Amino acid sequence: MIKFLDLQQVNAQYREELLAATARVIDSGWYILGKEVSAFEQAFAQYCQAEHCLGVANGLDALILIFRAYKELGLLNEGDEVIVPANTYIASILSITENNLKPVLVEPDLATYNIAPELVQQAITSKTRAILAVHLYGQCADMPALKKIAEDNNLLLIEDAAQAHGATCLGQKAGSLGDAAGFSFYPGKNLGALGDGGAVTTNNKQLADVINALRNYGSQEKYVNRYQGLNSRLDELQAAILNIKLNYLDAETQRRRTVADQYLNGINNPLISLPTIATNNRHVWHLFIIRTPDRAALQNYLTGQGIQTVIHYPIPPHQQAAYETWNTMQLPVTEKIHQEVLSLPMSPVLSHEDVVQIIGTINEFSL
Ligand SMILES: *Cc1c(COP(=O)(O)O)cnc(C)c1O
Repeated sequence: MIKFLDLQQVNAQYREELLAATARVIDSGWYILGKEVSAFEQAFAQYCQAEHCLGVANGLDALILIFRAYKELGLLNEGDEVIVPANTYIASILSITENNLKPVLVEPDLATYNIAPELVQQAITSKTRAILAVHLYGQCADMPALKKIAEDNNLLLIEDAAQAHGATCLGQKAGSLGDAAGFSFYPGKNLGALGDGGAVTTNNKQLADVINALRNYGSQEKYVNRYQGLNSRLDELQAAILNIKLNYLDAETQRRRTVADQYLNGINNPLISLPTIATNNRHVWHLFIIRTPDRAALQNYLTGQGIQTVIHYPIPPHQQAAYETWNTMQLPVTEKIHQEVLSLPMSPVLSHEDVVQIIGTINEFSL
């Protein structure tokens, strides 16, 4: 069986270093907001070409805290509209509704799966205050176009970079392409912890200060509470692990790119649409997504041939029970994507031979 993602194998590569880091934290006697988190925040800010980084509990909280901080700063108010791609992972939407802001779902471009800037322009109303750009599957959204729209309309531009560690647009890294960005270090992400973790990056010192307080009960000084905050901190153990894994992120991304090139050059089945990389972008291949009209047939066939695949994602946010009032909305591009996408095995530990086998098997698929 070729696994979609063998996390055990990914982390086994660094076993000795991870054990040593874990021991270092155990022996330090300091487990929350200490040296490991500070070191990681500094290293990850630098990696993202951003001035500030704040470690938080997970990717969803990173996004929630960004919107929450803008509310504390008076730049967002409840009921304000936030434009977001309709074909994103549910967490992007949850971060908006959790803050009592209003998501405005906009269709993506079918070639890149990222939000279509011309449709963003059309969706702007007098209540629009922000765009949440999602760098889906590891490729940056069209940030130059979105930045222009944001500037022209005085909107905040926030990145959901949970799938895009190290991705670039015009050479600039995800995490420094907008006003603030949220990252996830969920184990399966390109930079994955051994548990939950997340971070916010920004060049805005004021915003960073508010988030720094909000993640820690709204307190900057112990027992002095400036805001009604949360408890959403990256812990020392996960930070120590991330400090090690960050050193290997670029090498792992390079492996992903090699796998993606192999797929792109090798798959030539007319029933299959391959992903498109927009000019200006460096894709980091969190997921390698193909599309095919009869997805169930392809997935069953691949399973039968010992190749594990996953669907990201089977149900779009507007068709979820959690957002029942949207269930009658029609978003044909988003719906088509959710019906047709299939994620092929993709990871830094996938072997050349496995990829050759997957390509051969896919090219022999017929209806
Ligand atoms: C994973 C993910 C998140 C949420 O991150 P968690 O750490 O799982 O909370 C948000 N947005 C996108 C696009 C994601 O893929």
